[in-house]
Amino acid sequence: MSKIREDGDRVFVPVEVMHSLGAAIFEAAGSEPVEARTIVTRLAGANLRGHDSHGVIRIPRYVQWAREGIQVPNQKLRVLSDQPGIAIVDGQYGFGQTIGEQAVDIGIEKARSQGVAMVALRNSGHIGRIGDWAERAADAGLVSVHMVNVRGSLLVAPFGGVSRRSSTNPFCIGAPIEGSEHIVLDFATSLVAEGKALVALKGGKPLPPGALVDGDGTITSDPRPLYGATGDSIYPDPSQGPGALRAFGDHKGFGMNFMMEVMAGALTGSGTAGKLDEPERRRFCNGMLSFYIDLKAMDGTPREMGDSFAAEVLDYLAFVKSAVPTTPGGEVLVPGEPERRLMAERLASGLPLARQAWDDIVETARTSGIDPDAHIT
Ligand code: NAD
Repeated sequence: MSKIREDGDRVFVPVEVMHSLGAAIFEAAGSEPVEARTIVTRLAGANLRGHDSHGVIRIPRYVQWAREGIQVPNQKLRVLSDQPGIAIVDGQYGFGQTIGEQAVDIGIEKARSQGVAMVALRNSGHIGRIGDWAERAADAGLVSVHMVNVRGSLLVAPFGGVSRRSSTNPFCIGAPIEGSEHIVLDFATSLVAEGKALVALKGGKPLPPGALVDGDGTITSDPRPLYGATGDSIYPDPSQGPGALRAFGDHKGFGMNFMMEVMAGALTGSGTAGKLDEPERRRFCNGMLSFYIDLKAMDGTPREMGDSFAAEVLDYLAFVKSAVPTTPGGEVLVPGEPERRLMAERLASGLPLARQAWDDIVETARTSGIDPDAHIT
């Protein structure tokens, strides 16, 4: 009997089924068992937190990238420069799920000995949901800030422009709060992440108004202008459409998107999205500039307000949540809260996927020589 629950155009996949099927797929793509399991656990983790754009819908594309050599299984981080408080590291186009872990662990170790650290990561395969890295640092007691760009990917039009000049360039801040949950702010600087357009294209949640601009300058929520003729295939290619994603928040969001290129692309040495006519600039990779602060380094100095960092944040958080909601019965949430709530729900219900997205994963398993039924039934 199938463990997959069907409901109209959606299927609900238990997380352990996804882990088992996904690990088999990535092992077939060349990853060692630990890496294969790490990749799918992080992808499914994004689904659990409601970020379907950075979840298992990416499996077919990751497999295609591994086949084409764009992402390389089983890579170790190469340390290019190791200075007190600063590391410059090269991900060697490895899967971002394992490269990200290695880069964050260097930041944790350095911040613990120096109080503060910066890690400049270049040439990483897709590092997925950036909140994962802030959570890993927060688990170790560190506040962290992450700025990310995507070389080899032109998806976003600048404020006032139609042509693509950058990617979705996420920004993330995480803080551990003693005695409470971590606070994690994590978003793309485009109005929606590209994966959300992919989810909408595959029959999932529709995009908000104004998420895209078509090639003729028309503002739209239709994802198809991003993919052009590849929109109907199993591997829709967001580089192929005539349109572009738009930055959030008009000139302000565009300004943040632009500075992600400066910090994560130019400063790390990874390279900006830039013109794609240079062959080596075309290869997809994430650059990430991360800062880590050990909360212990802030201890011992008398505070103006609050008994501790955690106490001051928790006081403020309660003040914010006490705001009168815009709609009767509504609620003010703080960064990280929606993700936590969904996680509890989806662990019980299974991962909701559009049928098309699930069919693509099953098809990827078959083309990898895997019998999906061995994992599903
Ligand atoms: P989003 O628009 O859903 O925003 C998420 C952030 O907003 C979270 O911090 C969340 O806690 C907060 N939030 C959501 N609803 C809220 C509410 N009602 N009240 C208060 N806070 C709320 O996220 P997104 O821009 O679609 O990004 C999705 C994911 O894509 C992120 O995890 C991001 O890291 C990832 N991403 C990765 C790459 C990459 O190249 N690796 C590129 C772009 C985006």
